[in-house]
Amino acid sequence: MNIHEYQAKSVLREFGVPVPRGVPIFALDEAEAAAKDLGGPVWVVKSQIHAGGRGKGTFKEAQAGEKGGVRLARSIDEVKAYVEQILGNTLVTVQTGPAGRQVNRIYLEDGSNIAKEFYLSLLVDRVTSRVSFVVSTEGGMDIEEVAHKTPERITTFSVDPATGIMPHHGRTVAKALDLEGDLAKQVGTLVGQLYTAFVSKDMEMLEINPLIVSAEGQIRCLDAKISFDSNALYRHPDVVALRDEGEEDAKEIEASKYDLNYITLEGTIGCMVNGAGLAMATMDIIKLYGAAPANFLDVGGGATKEKVAAAFKIITADPNVKGILVNIFGGIMKCDVIAEGVIAAVKEVGLQVPLVVRLEGTNVDLGKKIIGESGLNVISADDLDDAAQKIVAAVNGTP
Ligand code: ADP
Ligand code: MG
Repeated sequence: MNIHEYQAKSVLREFGVPVPRGVPIFALDEAEAAAKDLGGPVWVVKSQIHAGGRGKGTFKEAQAGEKGGVRLARSIDEVKAYVEQILGNTLVTVQTGPAGRQVNRIYLEDGSNIAKEFYLSLLVDRVTSRVSFVVSTEGGMDIEEVAHKTPERITTFSVDPATGIMPHHGRTVAKALDLEGDLAKQVGTLVGQLYTAFVSKDMEMLEINPLIVSAEGQIRCLDAKISFDSNALYRHPDVVALRDEGEEDAKEIEASKYDLNYITLEGTIGCMVNGAGLAMATMDIIKLYGAAPANFLDVGGGATKEKVAAAFKIITADPNVKGILVNIFGGIMKCDVIAEGVIAAVKEVGLQVPLVVRLEGTNVDLGKKIIGESGLNVISADDLDDAAQKIVAAVNGTP
């Protein structure tokens, strides 16, 4: 789960991390009070969307001006003008895709006097099963490009969970950033705070870009992006409260209400599968036969008829879906339950696209019988190969 920059900074502040003062703004009439509260003389007006690259982004609408999603203001009037221009408009960045994202929140922040910009992130490294740090002197810009063109400017190391964060980790970061004396000390403290925040809030990724040295000799986090591990959210109601559903895929929100593992993808074949492994295999085989999946959907082991019906509705509501493949292996989950769920959903929402159903396992005969007697136009398949070929052919219009 992702959160906005201003929320990330408030989470980090709890751990003592140095971030600039700022005030979130939801409406134009809040701008003046916020600007006065911060005092100036320089303010930064920052668009809040769940995507990076805002500074270099562009707005779709003409009234939003041409200066990007992060703007420096030198007077309260300028702050107000920028807030008015930006709020409600659509920001397009390298990470939003061409459709962009509407900006409904702004973070007004104290302007910092930047002397140097660095990059620092923490993430769960699946290869070492540890939390890794990624540090670079090349802050503010595309870290992917730095990794590609000048990998020697990036330092990475991982932290042994048995020892936790140690003073030498701080020294490694200071050395990588070429910092000495008081700045090295500040960075050492920061490294400990970030690691503690990361572990105690079950983060998946924490990215500070840029981390700066100010002209006054202070280390500060000027941007902050946090992703939390969704599987650990039950331990953090305070984090769940930060969720902004306006930033998430509506279908994924609906799926989460039914406890379905659902992810929207770009293809045309809607998939309903039980078990993540089988779902992955189904997506692969659809690709093999020349089409692409419109989603990943694992209905789970203990799905009820209602859950299956909800899943089916989410798939059919997607206008990109040109065909549906139901691929179920009945183990704990019984094939007849799936069949009943599919039929209930089809009766409710109708079926405008071809549907291929492949059932195997517990109560398979009963499941097939239920579908056969339903009078629905369902293409039945015997195995994974057969099912994938049939749905791809139906969608592509080839026999
Ligand atoms: P994004 O990464 O989405 O473009 P950032 O928060 O990193 O957004 O802002 C872009 C740039 O704007 C930063 O690299 C920094 O140079 C400048 N900036 C951001 N916040 C401040 C601030 N509080 N004071 C001064 N400059 C800032
Ligand atoms: Mg940034």
